[in-house]
Amino acid sequence: MNGLAREELVSLLQTRDPGELEAVRRRAEDLTLSTLGNRVYYRGLIEFSNICSLNCLYCGIRRGNHNMKRYTASQAQITEAARWCAGAGFGSIVLQSGERTDPAFVDFVEEAVLGIKESTVSQRLPEGLGITLCVGEQPREALRRFREAGAHRYLLRVETTNPGLFRSIHPGEQTLESRLSCLSILREEGFAVGTGVMIGLPGQTPEMLADDLLFYRDNDFDMFGMGPFIPHHDTPMGRETILPDCERMRLSLLMIGLARLLTVTTNIAATTALQALDATGREKGLSWGANVIMPSLTPGEFRKDYLLYDGKPCTDENKEDCLNCLKRRVEMAGRVVAVDDWGDPVHYKARVHNEGRQ
Ligand code: SF4
Repeated sequence: MNGLAREELVSLLQTRDPGELEAVRRRAEDLTLSTLGNRVYYRGLIEFSNICSLNCLYCGIRRGNHNMKRYTASQAQITEAARWCAGAGFGSIVLQSGERTDPAFVDFVEEAVLGIKESTVSQRLPEGLGITLCVGEQPREALRRFREAGAHRYLLRVETTNPGLFRSIHPGEQTLESRLSCLSILREEGFAVGTGVMIGLPGQTPEMLADDLLFYRDNDFDMFGMGPFIPHHDTPMGRETILPDCERMRLSLLMIGLARLLTVTTNIAATTALQALDATGREKGLSWGANVIMPSLTPGEFRKDYLLYDGKPCTDENKEDCLNCLKRRVEMAGRVVAVDDWGDPVHYKARVHNEGRQ
């Protein structure tokens, strides 16, 4: 099925026929279970700073939003959250923040990665937690330092591969070319590379989403994190006319299922944004082919200040509540939570093997 043609993808993205939708879902779920097994990998998500130097038109923490209390967690808070994560059996962590490229920020991220590695090595995790970074576009030198410090996965969402749509949701200073170039550098520097798009953007067509899926397949990415567009009231796109929740949910689930069918051995996240549209959104994401969930480990005092979109779920819950709730959700989807396992994408392992790296 990874030979799906563009026209077939466009047609599937337009279907509302329950039988056809279920056929895609079942195929994606069967492929996930037969190729990757029924395990779901947790990545403890630490949103360590909401300071951002960029101004994406859809994002609640854009630099132009002055109605936002800015924060940066301390190294001690990050290490504490990482230790908790390792103790709870998660194999991996995601460090996420707004985008900055100043030397102090690069130093901070490098120190955080080193601190997490040092403090989470144990018999159960001989190399400490696996670390994914999601800190935006960075120059090669910074990425190299992060990789050498011990981070080995990187998520950089492209949001859309359509040049016109990209321009309509970003200020002129941000370009698709530079995002694509950073994705190439990440790969050259040896990271497992993830990307993703936003689904249900104003002006986005099924053809554009089909092209996004083909971009996923043809560029050999290892991981995907994608979710529905959900406006934030304090942004220029906060009052856009949007598709109904059920439509954005239908498209988001189709994108997960079709990404699974096209890329087979990659990791695909059931993102929190799915749950913002549908109370069982993450379980649905798993049943459409996702195999990763990112429980929030952001220190409680900061959670309400990392609002990329309105109605973000779980901002009131503490780590333990969040974990218990998620375990139930995973089990409801008929899956099991992997313990003490980095959960690297099979796709990445095969790629590294083929490229002759360790
Ligand atoms: S999407 Fe990322 S880069 Fe853009 S404003 Fe938000 S945090 Fe900054």
